[in-house]
Amino acid sequence: MMRPYELVDKVCAYDPRADEALLHRAYRYATRAHGSQKRASGDPYFSHPLEVAGILAALKLDAATIATGLLHDTIEDTGATYEELRVSFGGEVARLVDGVTKLSRLDMSSEETRQAENFRKLLMATADDVRVLLVKLADRLHNMRTLSFLSDGEKRRRIAQETMEIYAPLAGRIGMQEMREELEDLAFRYLNPEARETLTRRLDKTRQTKLMVLKRIEKSLRQKFSERNLSATVTSRAKRPYAIWRKMENRQIALEQLSDLIGFRAIMRSVEDCYSALGIVHTTWKTVPGRFKDYISTPKRNGYRSLHTTVVGPEQQRIELQIRTEDMHEIAEHGIAAHWSYKEGGCHFGGEPLAEPFAWIRRVVGMLEHGDTPQEFLEHTKLEMFSDQVFCFTVKGDLIVLPRGSTPIDFAYAVHTEIGDSCVGAKINGRPRPLRERLGTGDEVEILRSDAQEPSAAWESMAVTGKARSAIRRAVRQKKKASEIRLGRDILWNKFRAAGRRIGDKILERALGVLEKNSLEEIFLQVGRGEMGWEAVLKAVYPRAAEKARRRPVLRDKSAVPILGAASGTAIQFAPDSFPLPGERIVGIQTSGRGLVVYPIDSAALGAFDGEPDRWVDLAWETDASPRRFYPSRIALQLSHEVGSLAMVTALIADYDCNIIALQLLHRDPDCFTLHLDIEVHDLKHLNRLLSALEGLSVVLEARRERR
Ligand code: MN
Repeated sequence: MMRPYELVDKVCAYDPRADEALLHRAYRYATRAHGSQKRASGDPYFSHPLEVAGILAALKLDAATIATGLLHDTIEDTGATYEELRVSFGGEVARLVDGVTKLSRLDMSSEETRQAENFRKLLMATADDVRVLLVKLADRLHNMRTLSFLSDGEKRRRIAQETMEIYAPLAGRIGMQEMREELEDLAFRYLNPEARETLTRRLDKTRQTKLMVLKRIEKSLRQKFSERNLSATVTSRAKRPYAIWRKMENRQIALEQLSDLIGFRAIMRSVEDCYSALGIVHTTWKTVPGRFKDYISTPKRNGYRSLHTTVVGPEQQRIELQIRTEDMHEIAEHGIAAHWSYKEGGCHFGGEPLAEPFAWIRRVVGMLEHGDTPQEFLEHTKLEMFSDQVFCFTVKGDLIVLPRGSTPIDFAYAVHTEIGDSCVGAKINGRPRPLRERLGTGDEVEILRSDAQEPSAAWESMAVTGKARSAIRRAVRQKKKASEIRLGRDILWNKFRAAGRRIGDKILERALGVLEKNSLEEIFLQVGRGEMGWEAVLKAVYPRAAEKARRRPVLRDKSAVPILGAASGTAIQFAPDSFPLPGERIVGIQTSGRGLVVYPIDSAALGAFDGEPDRWVDLAWETDASPRRFYPSRIALQLSHEVGSLAMVTALIADYDCNIIALQLLHRDPDCFTLHLDIEVHDLKHLNRLLSALEGLSVVLEARRERR
């Protein structure tokens, strides 16, 4: 265990102005407060806060933070109060300890409080002071280092999971790469012990067998640099098992390559030297294409700066090399903590002084609380650490991480495909919001569902995640296919009946062999898509029927047409394309060889007979003809060009108890298409009701009766 003076010496070494007395007081207070408490390891409890303070001192944080590390468990575990701490250590330390305590309470109740909720609160808590977050991370790191002493396996796993999902990424986001890697690796140990074991063995073996190679590579790098008078510290380091594991999961890598296991690093004296070193490496060895990254001229969002390259170096070994300055290295390892700078002029970030180093976190939280969009904030800050992702929550508090720009649709599909498919609306933070609304960090999203809902093609443009987009495309394709199958089936049933032929699934199966199809569905689909004519199917089932059927008049069973006024025995037929319906006035024109041809009274075609009054016969519909018959009629429809619009129309027509006889596509452009539908209705009223219902559909731009 670290002695008190060791800790204080460590702090004073990097911060000569540090308040030594404060540190000593905090040390004594914490030892007394924790008294004889023991850790699961059997160590005195106080070893824990001391180690946490040590981790914070390694990050070169200020004395108040170190004191907070020492005191962080006193309120929670020893009955010390905020007030006591304030009197003994001042408001700053008391507030920091209080902040860490609040976060720790979240840990303890996490059976109910889900991890995601912790994450949000964590972010909220850092509003007061990011040092709370740093202490919390150090606390978690030490707990992870000693996790093996915990006897409850389930609890161990839960803590490891939480570390992997919440704390490690959080450390990464604020640029604390070293902390992140250690947290990940410790968690990996409990989450996937076998994989870690295998990788570690493999790594050790590689290191042993390749040790000489490593040394020779380091030496030749050094040599090349010194030939050009560049002073450089060249090191190699084995990558952490978890980092390798993640790489292996992301893209199938072979572990044989040294470059996948060992990273080389050159620390240079200046930015100029970095680029000179890069030039030497690139002119001496062959570069591996696509691996060069210049994070010096374009730093990462979390402030990371370095040159990355991979070359085929000495002995044909691939070498992954990072070239950076000492300052850049410090930031790469310690991120935000590295900005807690004691250099003159206060805090620096990426070389630029910042008035208030952690203002960004404070503002993120401010946005969450005051309802401004985080996006807006992120566009106006240099530290766009969260800009590529948004963190949202389910009502239960589960964290859903989505790319920036995501909508409730993405959210719904991220939770579950079924939830996405049945999504009808969303509440964001308790208020109903449109599905196209972009989600922001901290949003709590409730997806409203209905089993009657089907994904709409329009959703695809609202979704940004691949998961949502492909699920929508799949659902829309299925829906379109189903409606085409229905339409094909309807067409066949109507056409067969019109031809006076029986139809049924069993009967249609006769056509399978002739048409070389495997299933009726295939036939329906092709007919519905217009890829196969109904005549072909009719002919396949009834080889001799097709010819007859085509000549058959549209009106069936004409002898019984319920029309009054014609001399008995007179043949009656309807004028082509005039589609008279019961409920409207009709006249007949005597036509030699065809009997009485019936026209609606307002038919333009009647003009041709104006000079021949003798041929005109007044007719009327028989009003209570039963059973109710069907009469052909034609409607012209203009539909918006959306997937599924035709299906909506055909479904509505079926709902109105009308039959579809034929469909003809007249015109099609990117926005809409026009078609003629030949249908059967009972009378004019029936048709008019259908037309107004069609007009009511959002996909129908126009619906009208069409006739000569
Ligand atoms: Mn603790």
